[in-house]
Amino acid sequence: MFFYGKIIPMQLNAQESPIYKTLNTVFGFTAFRAHQEDIIKSILNKQDVFAVMPTGGGKSLCYQLPAALMPGTAVVISPLISLMKDQVDAAQSVGLSAAFINSSLGVRQISETYQKLKADKIDLLYIAPERFKVLHFMELLKNIPISFFAIDEAHCISEWGHDFRPDYLNLSNIRTTFPKALIAAFTATATLKVQEDIIRKISLRSPFLVRASFNRPNLFYQIEKKTAVNSQILQFLRAHPDESGIIYRTTRNSVMETAEFLTSQGIKALPYHAGLTQKKRTENQEAFNRDDVSVIAATIAFGMGIDKSNVRFVIHADLPKNIEGYHQETGRAGRDGEPAVCLLFFSRGDMSKIRYFIEQIADDKERLIAFDKLNRMVGLVSYNLCRRKQLLKFFDEDYPADNCGACDICLGDAQEVDITVDAQIIMSAVKRTDERFGIGHIIDIVTGANTKRIRQCRHNQIKTYGAGKHGDKNYWRFLADELLAYKVIRQEGDRYPVIKLTDKGLDILFSKVRLTALRRQETKAASLGSQDEHYDKILFEKLRIIRKEFAEEQQVPPFVIFSDKTLHEMCRYYPVSVDEMRKISGVGEVKLKQYAETFMAEIEEYLAERPDISIEKISSNTSCSSINLRQQKKPGQSIENTYLLFQQGLSIDDIAKQRSLAASTIIGHLEILIRDARDIDPDRLIDPVKYKEIEKLFLESKQWNLTPVIEHSNGRVNYTEARLVRAFLLR
Ligand code: ADP
Ligand code: ZN
Repeated sequence: MFFYGKIIPMQLNAQESPIYKTLNTVFGFTAFRAHQEDIIKSILNKQDVFAVMPTGGGKSLCYQLPAALMPGTAVVISPLISLMKDQVDAAQSVGLSAAFINSSLGVRQISETYQKLKADKIDLLYIAPERFKVLHFMELLKNIPISFFAIDEAHCISEWGHDFRPDYLNLSNIRTTFPKALIAAFTATATLKVQEDIIRKISLRSPFLVRASFNRPNLFYQIEKKTAVNSQILQFLRAHPDESGIIYRTTRNSVMETAEFLTSQGIKALPYHAGLTQKKRTENQEAFNRDDVSVIAATIAFGMGIDKSNVRFVIHADLPKNIEGYHQETGRAGRDGEPAVCLLFFSRGDMSKIRYFIEQIADDKERLIAFDKLNRMVGLVSYNLCRRKQLLKFFDEDYPADNCGACDICLGDAQEVDITVDAQIIMSAVKRTDERFGIGHIIDIVTGANTKRIRQCRHNQIKTYGAGKHGDKNYWRFLADELLAYKVIRQEGDRYPVIKLTDKGLDILFSKVRLTALRRQETKAASLGSQDEHYDKILFEKLRIIRKEFAEEQQVPPFVIFSDKTLHEMCRYYPVSVDEMRKISGVGEVKLKQYAETFMAEIEEYLAERPDISIEKISSNTSCSSINLRQQKKPGQSIENTYLLFQQGLSIDDIAKQRSLAASTIIGHLEILIRDARDIDPDRLIDPVKYKEIEKLFLESKQWNLTPVIEHSNGRVNYTEARLVRAFLLR
């Protein structure tokens, strides 16, 4: 599959409105995400706002855009001092005048900012909640024009939330000190109870309420059986070279072990956990933020301070304790809206470790809740049901479609099979032992195991003993999970749950109805993610290098220059003029001036090397002036013809001659076919020994540029060979 153009929606009659203009020219976006427009309009209409939107939902834009439009300063309260600089950098990078005040600044810097505030020269001011205790700061705020207050991570004000911060209680001062002020509060996680608590504590007045869906459509959920977890992770990383991602592990030791293992395998990875010094933690987080390392292995201590938008995968190498945690941690992937993979490695052994910790909880009620949440998490990873549906169900949300199209279950090849007889075997064992045993023992019975407990209870004498010898324990475990998911049986109790039959189960046991189930083949995580996205991967690697250079020059993280989404669009549409560049999502006027030329030059050079791409561009439909982006059509017949001739055994030169095309065009076709994983035998193109040598040179040069490889080969490798091997390596 190659690249398709995409029609970008344009709000034609709305285009003239100031908010669309700002969206376009300042932020460089063509459309609002869900709820953004309504929230912005409420702020502009002076109505308070309370919004629960998922991570990556685009909360910042909801206050940054009105801050740009309204007179006076918008004051943003955010708990994470470490993030403020990046947030201010990001706002400044699109041309907003932004500043922050927190304890990391010296007196002089603070007083400079005060002067600017008094002169009404700041659109957006980030502060930490403790500032509201400082009297002279409150005095200052009273004397400057304030457009509105925005409270980020608003759940921190509620003791019912999972991240209560006492400093946030100071925020109730806002309403008393500024009775007329407009307040907009934002969070990614709030139950209805927390929501009410927040609204009361900060005295919002009939706020415009938003509770967005917890669904993250761009995330792909995948669960795999955990065997040799570090090697499994490595396999995934090899298939996703240079992509940014987080690997979560439960203990400090396992974090270190994973980080060291990956480093020994040539992957740039760093650890993060509470046992490291604050300095080391900050350094490692910065290195990750700035794309100096691609992978961070971390405990769940890592994350609150992360608003890196181009995290392309989150791996859970151990089972999370509950779905809230899993949702929050996986939520750190794909904030830019581009596809990202959430991969979890599950082994049942992990459950007992978590159970052990839960048992230490003194409060009975809390402990039961924790067990219940663990059971829901185990259900999510083991049931043969759409992962997304289960995830959303946990947050009381019904996912409407049958097939989400983006989880391992929904994408697996499904086949309907009748499982009535095997279901009856399990249920009969449950019934004959009076519904008093857990699933492990029931499986021992049906598989005819010779355990002490079986002998003690004389369960080797019941009729069902050994009736399921045709399957192993794993098979029966899987089937039991399936019966639980279909609510044919249910679990009762927490620490050692026993199995009971439901009414539906009884009907099946007594053969009143039959039971069918969908059986799916596993999709392998290594084959997911970027490979399925439609953009030019080779160009992306080139543009990424330029982005990194700009980022280093300006000392900001690369995603502040351009998000992955923006680069992906460039690698889909190949913009080479200012007008085309302007239409790329994330390219506003300021960034256009600063960076467009360099990026366009690179794209142009790239196209010059690849005549096949430019032909497609010219032949594409450019008459649609509202888009006016050159769309890359499916490469179509030309490449297929090359493929056919190559399959017939013709060499590159022969194909070129027969088709009256330049050899370089044919090589371009082959490059695409290779990357599309078509059946191309490398031995027919490059001598295997040379292939190995080129592969080594690429690994050493740690990037995909051809020139260093050719130079380091001392004349042994030519451009074509390097190009073809690169395509095989990238595939
Ligand atoms: P949140 O704070 O809700 O987690 P952010 O405000 O950090 O999310 O936004 C996540 C990403 O989405 C950022 O890269 C941002 O630039 C991008 N984004 C926000 N709104 C839009 C939009 N309307 N169109 C395209 N991208 C957007
Ligand atoms: Zn699904």
